[in-house]
Amino acid sequence: MSGHGIFERLFAGRWIAGPDIDDAISVARRFNGKGVSAVFNYLGEDLKDKGMVEDAVQVYSELIKRIGSEGIVASISVKPTQLGASISYKTFLSNYTRIVKLAKKNGVFVWFDMESSGMIDTVIRAYRKDMKSKDTGICLQAYLTRSYEDAVGLCKKGAIIRLVKGAYNEPPDVAYQTKEAVTSNYVRIMEYLFRHSKRFMIATHDLGIIEHAHRLDKGHKGEVEYAMLNGIRNRYAVAMAKKGDRVAVYIPFGRAWLNYSYRRLKEAGHISLVLKSIFEDQGV
Ligand SMILES: Cc1cc2nc3c(=O)[nH]c(=O)nc-3n(C[C@H](O)[C@H](O)[C@H](O)COP(=O)(O)OP(=O)(O)OC[C@H]3O[C@@H](n4cnc5c(N)ncnc54)[C@H](O)[C@@H]3O)c2cc1C
Repeated sequence: MSGHGIFERLFAGRWIAGPDIDDAISVARRFNGKGVSAVFNYLGEDLKDKGMVEDAVQVYSELIKRIGSEGIVASISVKPTQLGASISYKTFLSNYTRIVKLAKKNGVFVWFDMESSGMIDTVIRAYRKDMKSKDTGICLQAYLTRSYEDAVGLCKKGAIIRLVKGAYNEPPDVAYQTKEAVTSNYVRIMEYLFRHSKRFMIATHDLGIIEHAHRLDKGHKGEVEYAMLNGIRNRYAVAMAKKGDRVAVYIPFGRAWLNYSYRRLKEAGHISLVLKSIFEDQGV
């Protein structure tokens, strides 16, 4: 991140591995050394130019090959609008299929991030085509009122779900507007997953939710993975892994850091939390 502004160095540098694949891999190796796997995300979103979409596909392709050949314990997580979902469903599906095929060949699991609510049907439509393969997973956002039903419908077909609270600005006709309502819907969906899903990811830094998940996990026979974002509560993530949880850290890299950093700043809610996450020793 050298040569950039103070904002980028102070804030983005905490959350983002750096501009290149090498930066992401070096952060992942540190986590792998502590028993934590990586979920790589190449930054960039809402791409409307086919050339830029192709560039993103190329970066993911190289990344997939390197994960496979260098033995990194990692999956990738792709934003649908990086694969052309803002251009057309056809463009998205064609790039989706290319990435999933290559990942399968290299033994790399592919997550699909969830972006703004207008994109959900597009992502679910593509995901449903291939979800029986068990090589792909989809993110659902608990702030959306539709997500419980989506979870039920997808679970019945054997989907692998990553549950998050949600990071975009969504209006009251589609999303819960208070922290309490979002958390309560998160817990409701999570309890459903514990009852009905054999494999899913609990992606949150909310310690109340994680403690509740641990209680439910006791009698659960399936595979639960916990996940946090790079730079937030990572010492806790490492401690969870040490105690025997399956834990992953989501590691963004690339130059398009602004939108991602803005969302992290916004949800930190209070400057003291941001400063804490910047100066805290994250334990990796
Ligand atoms: C692995 C992973 C994948 C994700 N993928 C997606 C996705 O595809 N689509 C999507 O919309 N969202 C995604 N998110 C983001 C998610 O939706 C939330 O915006 C984010 O995780 C914060 O919510 P929370 O569950 O941690 O709960 P919150 O209630 O926001 O936070 C709980 C506590 O964690 C700490 N904390 C949270 N954020 C910060 C911060 N920035 N700085 C310092 N402390 C903080 C605070 O102590 C806070 O009280 C993902 C998150 C994770 C962990």
